[in-house]
Amino acid sequence: MAAKYKMRCIRCKKNYVLASYRDRYVVCYECSEKDMKGEAKDPSLKKLLNISEELYRESSFLRDIKIKALRYGNLTEKQVEAFKTVVEKMKNPKPQKKAPEYGEK
Ligand SMILES: [Zn+2]
Repeated sequence: MAAKYKMRCIRCKKNYVLASYRDRYVVCYECSEKDMKGEAKDPSLKKLLNISEELYRESSFLRDIKIKALRYGNLTEKQVEAFKTVVEKMKNPKPQKKAPEYGEK
């Protein structure tokens, strides 16, 4: 796991969110919740985003992707892949060798 530390939510400036060093800014679950309401129109997107709320609570990355998907109605292939990878990792936590992480260049 990447090192985690606490960052203050940029929106309410009140709640703390677990962030990794890659996150420039984070929004807490409560603040993201409003933007996460609704469903994607695209059936494959809808299926992709249909994961347990717990995962969204734990990952600001997943929240961010969902919000983008709802806002723009689509995601890039890279975003879809990254989403799947993160969900997979969270569902099956296991020691990773040296998997490339989303956002690294
Ligand atoms: Zn907040």
